[in-house]
Amino acid sequence: MSCIFCKIIAGEIPSYKVYEDKHTLAFLDIGPVNPGHTLVVPKKHFANIEEAGEETLCRVMKTVKKVGLSLKKNLGAVGYNILEANDPEAGQSVPHLHFHLIPRLPGDGLTFWPQKKYATGEAEAVLKKINMIK
Ligand code: AMP
Ligand code: ZN
Repeated sequence: MSCIFCKIIAGEIPSYKVYEDKHTLAFLDIGPVNPGHTLVVPKKHFANIEEAGEETLCRVMKTVKKVGLSLKKNLGAVGYNILEANDPEAGQSVPHLHFHLIPRLPGDGLTFWPQKKYATGEAEAVLKKINMIK
């Protein structure tokens, strides 16, 4: 077993556990954006969101919600961001499905991605490719 998160789940390497149930684990990210930055993982190994079944995703999301509420209630976060890097090309460095919960603190200065504008006809062309509503 080479997966670092599987090792954390198995207790082979230490972690700061935030929450645990039968199917999911939440633990502090070792390199936090803000204190309290938490990772939520399924205990079973799935590389990414596409590999995981719906039941697993529901369980993980339930834990994400619990942790988010705690960040607000107990840490005083004014909000939080939920982030999942899906695939190495998207910045996923650990190939075990995980959701980042990043607590937001007043004035933390975090900004996210730049936004572009669609050129004329571009939105329609993209939509033609990805629209699944038939
Ligand atoms: P990502 O880049 O989205 O795959 O996120 C992986 C995250 O795992 C990074 O934010 C790392 O800081 C975090 N990480 C890596 N190793 C550990 C560890 N042993 N304990 C806690 N967090 C870790
Ligand atoms: Zn794993």
